[in-house]
Amino acid sequence: MPIFAAGTRAEARRLASPRMMIDVRPMTESTENIGPGRATAPTGRQRLDGRLTLFGAATQPAVVEVTPRPRAKRMTRALATLGAAIVLAAIVALIPPHVPWLLGVLAVGAWRARAEWRGEYELHDFAGVCPRCEKPLALTERYITPPLVVHCDDCHSQPQLSFGEEVAQG
Ligand SMILES: [Zn+2]
Repeated sequence: MPIFAAGTRAEARRLASPRMMIDVRPMTESTENIGPGRATAPTGRQRLDGRLTLFGAATQPAVVEVTPRPRAKRMTRALATLGAAIVLAAIVALIPPHVPWLLGVLAVGAWRARAEWRGEYELHDFAGVCPRCEKPLALTERYITPPLVVHCDDCHSQPQLSFGEEVAQG
């Protein structure tokens, strides 16, 4: 993209329309995720074809824009989240009535750590329609792992979204 050659990465990101995002790979992310068996795995932000399946309805195509989250990064972030929660819990435990604060912060920390560990992809964009009623679907989760269930607000069906390797295997 010659238009971005003279600008900074931040400018490139700001200038890029959603359709052009796939061409703007952050250089800082290009070298992570290199390890045994993963050297050829795509890194950085990418747009993947997917599909929405629902029993008794025609399968619909879907598109997701995601950044893969390598296992090591997920582990590091989960442990960091847990560590931060423990430190924060020790601080808020000084405030009466002590125990509820302590348990509350630990519970939120554990829940956040679980989310950091489980999400194999960070979701940036999603487009797809419900296989049953064909209304546009929305995904609000930040971290996702395919296949996952997407709730349809219109007909209350729960089609399954798969993409990436899940689609290739099917
Ligand atoms: Zn629907």
